[in-house]
Amino acid sequence: MRNVVIIGSGCAGNTAAIYAARANLKPLVVGGHEPGGQLSITSLVENFPGFPEGINGPDLVENMKKQAEHFGAEYIHGSVTEVDFTKRPFRLNIDGEWHETRTVIIASGASARWLNLPSEQKLIGHGVSSCATCDGFFYRGKKIMVIGGGDSAMEEANFLTRFGEEVTLVHRRDAFRASKIMVDRTVANPKITMVTNTVVDEVHDVSQKTVTGVTLRNLKTGETYRRDVDGFFVAIGHIPNTRPFVGKIELDEDGYIVSHGGARTSLTGVFHAGDVQDRTYRQAITASGAGCMAAIEVERFLEAEGH
Ligand code: NAP
Repeated sequence: MRNVVIIGSGCAGNTAAIYAARANLKPLVVGGHEPGGQLSITSLVENFPGFPEGINGPDLVENMKKQAEHFGAEYIHGSVTEVDFTKRPFRLNIDGEWHETRTVIIASGASARWLNLPSEQKLIGHGVSSCATCDGFFYRGKKIMVIGGGDSAMEEANFLTRFGEEVTLVHRRDAFRASKIMVDRTVANPKITMVTNTVVDEVHDVSQKTVTGVTLRNLKTGETYRRDVDGFFVAIGHIPNTRPFVGKIELDEDGYIVSHGGARTSLTGVFHAGDVQDRTYRQAITASGAGCMAAIEVERFLEAEGH
């Protein structure tokens, strides 16, 4: 019987593990299908406090994991495929094997939605990014393209004009899902060009291992053409990793966990941390902070129950 199982090994899960381990709770951390979370697919992280020279994303999460293991956290590979939250102790199916636990911290994150073009996938971290806050800085004076027609795409396009010489926003329709105020702001920004009714057929150049341009296709005319770009930002939404929890705890209409204050979910003894609940900030530091909160709540909860 575990005191706490932490689902996910990104910043939220690892920080929860550090705190829970230091509280002597011997947490079990389930790595998940993207061990290390979003940071494992970024390069240099320059906004995590404490690293004046920046730190590579994969190194940052690996350091957190080592820190948690140092205090007694245990990590296992695999994913939670099914949960039984009908009674306590809770039961979690981890790749076919059931585990019992008094409490659960869900830190399974949200995965960026990608276009899923083979060329795009091969160039993630080499000019292709899903996070303007993380990677915009690397495109100072460069040509940037943003894909999407929602608030995220508008926000990222506007943010990226601080760095890029020009920003092209490409959207597959001519109507935008984004709020009017965000669209108006984008249209009014002289550094942004909007290209509508257009999709991306390919990101170049996989053979050079860096982004040099894209092939675009106008859906109205069928015309295809090439555009030179240095940075390619995909902002077409995120998908929270909550499939095993559907019907077990309260989720909103997009599948994000609904917070019941602090790190509490709708179910006593089940806590949330990081992007699986947060659709607003989505930063490494906010996820770490949320992991800390969840572990402290677990500690207090177990203590109140006499464990
Ligand atoms: P979103 O509102 O779901 O918009 C996703 C956009 O990506 C849509 O324009 C969609 O096109 C496009 N898209 C999806 N799949 C695509 C594909 N395969 N190829 C090309 N385009 C594709 O997502 P979001 O912008 O991330 O926003 C999520 C939520 O957070 C929203 O509720 C939003 O209001 C909120 N948010 C708010 C702010 C803010 O207020 N500052 C900032 C960011 C996000 P279609 O329209 O054609 O489907």
